Amino acid sequence: MKTPVTVLGLGAMGTALARAFLAAGHPTTVWNRTPGRSPELDELGVTRAATVADALAVSPLIVVCLLNDDSVRTTLAPAATELSDRTLVNLTNGTPAQARRTADWAAQQGAEYLDGGIMAVPVMIGGPAAFILYSGSEVAFERHQAALAELARPQYVGSDPGFAALHDLALLSGMYGMVGGAAHALALVSSEKISPTAFTNDLLIPWLTAMLGTLSQIAADLEYGAAPGAAGSNLAMQATAYVNLIDASVDQGVDPAMVTPMGELLDRTVAEGHGDEDLAAIVRLLRKVS
Ligand code: NDP
Repeated sequence: MKTPVTVLGLGAMGTALARAFLAAGHPTTVWNRTPGRSPELDELGVTRAATVADALAVSPLIVVCLLNDDSVRTTLAPAATELSDRTLVNLTNGTPAQARRTADWAAQQGAEYLDGGIMAVPVMIGGPAAFILYSGSEVAFERHQAALAELARPQYVGSDPGFAALHDLALLSGMYGMVGGAAHALALVSSEKISPTAFTNDLLIPWLTAMLGTLSQIAADLEYGAAPGAAGSNLAMQATAYVNLIDASVDQGVDPAMVTPMGELLDRTVAEGHGDEDLAAIVRLLRKVS
């Protein structure tokens, strides 16, 4: 028999996780604060627990996917004694500090702990493009890796329980930078009679795709140091050109709120004497901010 699994939380994501476990043949028990959520799971053979304690009692593998850290703590605390000898996998979005605190708390209850960061939207769960970052107990990861693989490709990023959240939030930073930049780009072109769809499909996506290739070089410069004068697009040049981006936005009646901070960072990096370097110098500047 496949490992029995409990899923706490039947929001959009928790429901997708429970559905994937059921589809893979795992006996699946669920609990949700508001009873009766996601009735479609009943046809798939889910077991509904009346209480959190009941839900924890029946499975060695407990997957938690609630709104935030507060909801995880208030949900688990009253049933803490049932966590002994369980593996607690917390897929709720949170910070590294929250993950480390929950890991310590879980250890006090006698549970193995894995923190996770879901790199997917619910419809991707169980599909090939989804992956989930895990950190914490390596023993627990190895024991339950096959079951967790039913949800998404599992990627273990270290024994520090905070590392999954750190990687998750770093990846989200990259995503929000991209979508924020794209939002500003679309505001600019739609200030004129330019098709946002054609602009996006014919120009923006190919451009961003091509620029993705530069990220590896920035990372390598950061890690190993760039050769002197290696920057093909030095920051002093970029800071000068960037002013046009702000001015054109204002001229077109577009709020520059999204793009102004990057201009300020470019200016600061140049002012600190790094105008002949590349974007790795901005990373160094950011890391100085505590
Ligand atoms: P939803 O808003 O759809 O669901 C929230 C869930 O949390 C519900 O089950 C809700 O229960 C429960 N909940 C909220 N507050 C409490 C509380 N105080 N006590 C107990 N239960 C509570 O969110 P998602 O399912 O989409 O997201 C869940 C987690 O997954 C979040 O941390 C999110 O950041 C993360 N995530 C989501 C992604 C997505 O695209 N959806 C992508 C990657 C990560 P009730 O039904 O009673 O309200």
